Amino acid sequence: DTVLETRNLAVTYTGDRRVEAVKGVDLSFPENRLTAIIGPSGCGKSTYLKALDRLHDIQPNVEVTGEVYLRGEPVYDTDVPAPELRRRIGYVPQDPTPLPLSIYENVAYGLRIHDLHDSKDDLDDRVERYLRQVDLWDEVADRLDAPAAGLSTGQIQRLCLARSLAVEPDVLLCDEVTSALDPVSAENVEETLAGLAEEYTIVMVTHSMDQARRLADEVVFLYLGEVVEANDVRSFFENP
Ligand code: ADP
Ligand code: ADP
Repeated sequence: DTVLETRNLAVTYTGDRRVEAVKGVDLSFPENRLTAIIGPSGCGKSTYLKALDRLHDIQPNVEVTGEVYLRGEPVYDTDVPAPELRRRIGYVPQDPTPLPLSIYENVAYGLRIHDLHDSKDDLDDRVERYLRQVDLWDEVADRLDAPAAGLSTGQIQRLCLARSLAVEPDVLLCDEVTSALDPVSAENVEETLAGLAEEYTIVMVTHSMDQARRLADEVVFLYLGEVVEANDVRSFFENP
């Protein structure tokens, strides 16, 4: 089943210089697969990913045309409010900032906002479940009330993954989530992603072919804002 789909999606920056960053992309992202979008720096990966979550809406001088569908429903031209849209389409950036709250509250926050728990015990259970899913529970279980800002950058990256997953999105978008990390933290986050890929629908942007080869089920190669190849990972790397 297709979770997310774009038809003729184009994004143009209309500031001082006109940049057609994404030029009419048709793609569909299947359920419970990790799709890696790869390609050289500046090819439009990040611009495309942000369009899926309507993150360009909040910037001036950006034009988005074409269509995005989430489980068949339009993402643009819809009455679905932004918070509900962003709950259903989770987005984790390269260098996320935790909320200025405790480790526990960073995960609990969205569950409270979206009313996704029915008791304090249930909230505790969910916070633990998602911290375990990102392999963070053992590192933080004894200091859940400590400020999240005190964690290492790799731990913050995993915390922000947990925060996105806790609100039960249909799809998780990950934008270069290991790029800002030291090698050991990057490896930890990559291992976490490999685990999540078993259970979730993930669209991941990476500049690393090797990371795509290690993690992805499906690979999309973008070049100058256009899809050059979209294939399952085995075929993609077998036929250069
Ligand atoms: P990638 O993620 O593949 O590195 P980007 O999506 O960041 O590529 O950028 C695609 C193109 O759009 C590049 O030419 C980049 O310089 C340009 N671009 C990105 N953001 C902006 C912006 N805010 N204003 C103008 N041009 C931009
Ligand atoms: P990423 O690597 O996460 O895609 P970049 O380093 O490309 O991010 O861009 C960082 C910020 O600068 C983004 O907000 C992007 O939109 C903006 N940006 C990137 N390229 C340009 C550009 N050519 N002109 C203006 N802004 C840009």
